[in-house]
Order: sequence, then C-alpha cells, then structure tokens
Amino acid sequence: MFITDDTIAAVSSAAGRAGRAIVRLSGPDAIAIAGRLFTPTGGAASLAEIAGFRLTDGLLYLPDESIELPGRAYIFHRPHSYTRQDVVEIHLPGSPAVATATLAAMIDAGARQAGAGEFTARAFLSGRIDLSAAEAVADVIAAADDAQLRVAQAVMGGEVHRRCSQAAGDIAEALAIVEASIDLAEEDIQLAEPGQLAGQLADVGETLNDLAATATDMPETSHLPQVVLAGRPNAGKSSLLNALAQTRRAITSSMPGTTRDVLSGLIALPGNAVVNLLDAAGFGDDSPADYLDAAAHDAATAAVTRAEPILLVIDAATQQPHQDKNLREKIRQANPNAPVLTLANKIDLLGGEIDPPVDVIATSAATGEGLDALKAVIAERLHLAVNRSGEALGLHDRQRRCLSAAATATQNAAELLADAEEIADVAELAAVELRNALAQLGAISGEVVTEDLLGIIFSRFCVGK
Ligand code: GDP
Repeated sequence: MFITDDTIAAVSSAAGRAGRAIVRLSGPDAIAIAGRLFTPTGGAASLAEIAGFRLTDGLLYLPDESIELPGRAYIFHRPHSYTRQDVVEIHLPGSPAVATATLAAMIDAGARQAGAGEFTARAFLSGRIDLSAAEAVADVIAAADDAQLRVAQAVMGGEVHRRCSQAAGDIAEALAIVEASIDLAEEDIQLAEPGQLAGQLADVGETLNDLAATATDMPETSHLPQVVLAGRPNAGKSSLLNALAQTRRAITSSMPGTTRDVLSGLIALPGNAVVNLLDAAGFGDDSPADYLDAAAHDAATAAVTRAEPILLVIDAATQQPHQDKNLREKIRQANPNAPVLTLANKIDLLGGEIDPPVDVIATSAATGEGLDALKAVIAERLHLAVNRSGEALGLHDRQRRCLSAAATATQNAAELLADAEEIADVAELAAVELRNALAQLGAISGEVVTEDLLGIIFSRFCVGK
C-alpha cells in the first residue's frame, strides 16, 4: 500500500496565505528533481554539490509561467532527514499560487504528488519513529508549521512507547518461562513458582489497567499552552529550544540572525504537562533586510501575541538582565497580559560568578544548568502542575483499547497460573494469553500493525506531512 522507493512532493506549508510557502520532496531523486528547477546563487553550481543539512539561496524557474523566483532550498541527505531519505525543501514567497505552481513543476520534473501523511508514513516505515510517535505527529498538525513536524515530537509518543516496552519486557520474560515449562513438562524441573509468576503478571496487568484508566485523551497541540522565547539575536533562544525539547530542531549558528522561522517543539514539564515552546526569532527586529526576514518578524510577533508566558532570553555574558528596556516595551505592546520571565542564559561562560536577581532564572543551554528549574517555574506559572499531576498520559482511543486488552490478557494468564500447582499444567493456555498481550502492546508502538491500520492512521494526516 505504501510505496517508498519513488520521490514524492507536496506543499507542506499551511493552506492559504502565509509568510512563506514550502514545497517538500522526499525520495531517491529528490535532489535531482529539485535541482532541475532550482539554481543556487551562493557559489555551488547545483543542488547536488551541496552537503547535507545545508541551505542555499537561489532562483527557482517555473517553466509553465516562464518566471524565476527567489527562494531558498534546504538539503537533507539520507539518512539524516525526517524520512531517512534524501529530502529537499524549497521555501518561497508565501502565496498559494506560487506553492501550487512549484508543486506542479516538480511533478512535471518527475516527482509524484504525495498522499495524506505519506512523509510521516515514510518516517515510520524507515524505523525513524515508532507508531505512537507518528500518531503524535498527527496531533501536532492542526497548529503545526513545518518545523514542528520535522522532529515528530516524541514527548507523548515516546512515553507511551517506553511504558509499553517495559510491560512487554516483563510479559515476554514470563512467556519464556511458560513456554520452557511446556518443553520441560516430562522432567522434574520447576523454572518458577506458579504463584510467584502469577503475582508478577497480576502486577503488570494492574499497571497497564491503571495506565489505560488514568490517561487523558490525547490533547490537541493547538490547545497546548504556548510558551515563547524572545530575545536579541544570538542570546541562545534556538539552543534553549533544542535543549528543552531534547531534539535538535532549530538550526543554530554563531552568526546573528540565522534563525528565521518560528521553530517549535513540545516540552514535558513536571506533572506530565506538555507545552508548546516557540522560538520567536526576529521579534523586535525593526528593519528586516528582505522578505524572508519580514515574514520571520511577522510570524514571531504573532507568536509573542499568543504566548502565555514569554521567556525573555538575555546573553548573561554580555548583557545585564534588566538592561533591555526597549525589547521589554515591545513585548508589552504585543502582549500586555502574559507573564514575562527573564532568563540569564550562557551562565556557563561566567565561571560561577552569578548572582541573578530573584526574578531572573539563570540557565545554560550548553550545560543544561537551570533548565529543570525553568520547567518548574513555567509549570507553576501555568498552574499545570496542580491540575495535571499524577501519572496521566495522553492516549488515543485505539491505544487505550489495546492497553486494556493487554491488561485483561495478562490478568487472565495470572489467574490461570494462580490456580495451578505447576506452570506446565496451564502453560498452553497461559502462553496464548501472554502472546495476545504482547500483540496488543506491539500494536500500540507499531511493531505489530496491519496495513489497514496504517492506512487509517496515516489518512488522518494532511497531504504534505
Ligand atoms: P538565538 O539567535 O537567540 O537563537 O541564539 P542561538 O541559539 O543560535 O545561539 C547563538 C550562539 O550562542 C551559538 O553559537 C550557541 O552555540 C551559543 N550558545 C547558546 N546558548 C549558550 C549557552 O548557554 N552557553 C554557551 N557557552 N553558548 C551558548
């Protein structure tokens, strides 16, 4: 059902007018096809010459319209991309007509129009992300810009996977003992006390049941609280985003002004709350140099306007925490109500000589110092810790049903064993239950999934993701 060896293309920016339009390609010919239409202006003769994880400005030629447009190409060589294939993203002035014409030109040049969720399906099928993470991607799409997708956020998906793997490990161990007991039935060897094994399995079943019962419905990202990083270029905003979201999703560089998108990631706070963290690079920039800068500035201002709270990042090595009155004033104008927390970043450069005022949080994106304290303060400001404490975890209905079925099967095995004198007496039946439990857990993380199920899950995505 999912063909993965051809090259697909789609518009992956939001529908309608936006700061920029993005057309994305993935597959073995992605670089060659994009290269037929896009000519770099920055020195390289062709896209194929450019190393992975690089961007280049250039001109995009649209044959049907006979026009050339200024744009920017991002090159990701396999396997260092979202899909683990060669990926090219072309960023263009944001107009639906430009996006549509560019996609049509890419298709004429040899790409196939991608189906719904096909990029994420490729990420899953290549083993880049597990199925629960892929489903988490579907949840971020409503609010997502392209950057959010790139690191199919695993805060939620990864946590589900971790807990299921732990239970699956315990069940697999019990199954090994049960199956070995079948082989050893004729001999007088007891691998374990049936009562003890029953007790262990009953505990696993209870844990799974608790997880299914206490999990909240998977929150939609569009409803997650938005926490926004603002600050001067080079203060360390995108480094903080990378460190907090535990994923490298923003391109960082020591050249001021290199970050131009509103990049974002989900971060887990104490109490299992999840917030969306955005990097408002370009906010406060009064004199944008070109249309991309201007688009970045508008997007950043919109992010600050929606924020609750705002993190004002200061480079502690070069600035005093309360120095930046101008930027504070702009933040207040854009968003009069959100609390503003000041972060004195890069404290690792101060050699331990820090004594920040009480309302300033000292952090280092480089060493991770202060980041836990920061998360606690954000949770406190948003009152999240109180409202959403405990073990609650976001689950989809499908995942919840699998968890409950796994719990029931595990408990059935526990009951069989509890009543037996020897494991071998009930081994065949118990093994059936335990295998069923493993299959149900496997279906959550996608280790055991049918093509039909995959089709249903990925059809929830929009084309381009
Ligand atoms: P942004 O423009 O605010 O997004 O800043 P970046 O995150 O791109 O960081 C600018 C430069 O500062 C990069 O070279 C980073 O590696 C560096 N940097 C960021 N945070 C820290 C930190 O906590 N400690 C140190 N030593 N360097 C940092």
